Amino acid sequence: MTTNGARGIEYDAVVIGAGAAGLNAALLLARARRRVAVVDNGQPRNAPAAHMHGFLSRDGMPPAAFLEAGRAEAVGYGAVMVDAAVETSLPADGGGFTALLDNGGTLHARSLVVATGLRDELPEIPGVHDRWGRDVVHCPYCHGYEFRDQAIGVLGTSPGAVFHAQMLRQWSPDVVLFAHTLDLSAEDRERLDARGIVVVEGSVAAVAVQDDAVRGVELADGSSVPRSGVFVVPRMVPRDALLRGLGCAVGEDGWVSVDRHGQTSVPGVWAAGNVIDPRAQVVTSAGMGSAAGFALNIDLVQRDIAAALPVRAG
Ligand SMILES: Cc1cc2nc3c(=O)[nH]c(=O)nc-3n(C[C@H](O)[C@H](O)[C@H](O)COP(=O)(O)OP(=O)(O)OC[C@H]3O[C@@H](n4cnc5c(N)ncnc54)[C@H](O)[C@@H]3O)c2cc1C
Repeated sequence: MTTNGARGIEYDAVVIGAGAAGLNAALLLARARRRVAVVDNGQPRNAPAAHMHGFLSRDGMPPAAFLEAGRAEAVGYGAVMVDAAVETSLPADGGGFTALLDNGGTLHARSLVVATGLRDELPEIPGVHDRWGRDVVHCPYCHGYEFRDQAIGVLGTSPGAVFHAQMLRQWSPDVVLFAHTLDLSAEDRERLDARGIVVVEGSVAAVAVQDDAVRGVELADGSSVPRSGVFVVPRMVPRDALLRGLGCAVGEDGWVSVDRHGQTSVPGVWAAGNVIDPRAQVVTSAGMGSAAGFALNIDLVQRDIAAALPVRAG
């Protein structure tokens, strides 16, 4: 069932984001016979990739097929899907929360699960955006195996690129680190050299693409180095505006903090997946969503008990 989020419907939980984290939370909650709405605006992080890896029993599945199956399972237990963006969520008069949607709809719920993921901010190097998720990628665990024993390049766009190159040496003996903006220390160079990782100096001008495939990395001096896969470390920006807007506490690392069940510092507000953890893979995000749904239902049961007890005088 889908809806545009018409005013007046009351839910036990509104789940914001229908990626692995949000859908698994919704599945748990719908199976717990909770009234659940899942709101999503159709921008899952791994959409550019053709295949998803590292999820037991789902390895190699197209990301869109995985999400479609997850949606169908949650809907099968009564979850309601809303195709929209949540613009704001606010504490509601009389308890719970109100989610205001970009289509003018409003949802009211006793609790929220925010599973809005993160945004990968890519360097402005020609070719990087065009090939992102195909042969310009970031995650060794997601894509390393597919580039095993191939000519891999790592773009030195952030200090994390040095260890990234060391990681990728696990998958191929032919790894080139393009220094680009990096200021490599003598120790970095010694450690890279010790594992046969070549450092190419100079600014990167572009990722060279021909016949729908990466062919190499072009440098500002006009030279080019043939490569078949390019790894880059993006800046990962959590989509956490809704959590921050609700006043959820943020840790020293700059990410919204949760307990091990996904509960934020604001009672009734839970979070799961990449919005609170940049390292979370699809399987981890699904697990975090499951844990949040599990604990959220217990929280609702406790609230149901308190509400059912007779009010004691005095
Ligand atoms: C190119 C690429 C390839 C990857 N490959 C793999 C892989 O092979 N294996 C693996 O395990 N991991 C892979 N990942 C990582 C994977 O994408 C994440 O682990 C996973 O998507 C996190 O799930 P999530 O539910 O937290 O977020 P997402 O999947 O990003 O889902 C968040 C959802 O929230 C929605 N949303 C955001 N804001 C709002 C709002 N305000 N209102 C309504 N909806 C909203 C978005 O539209 C989105 O659908 C890859 C990542 C990238 C970039």
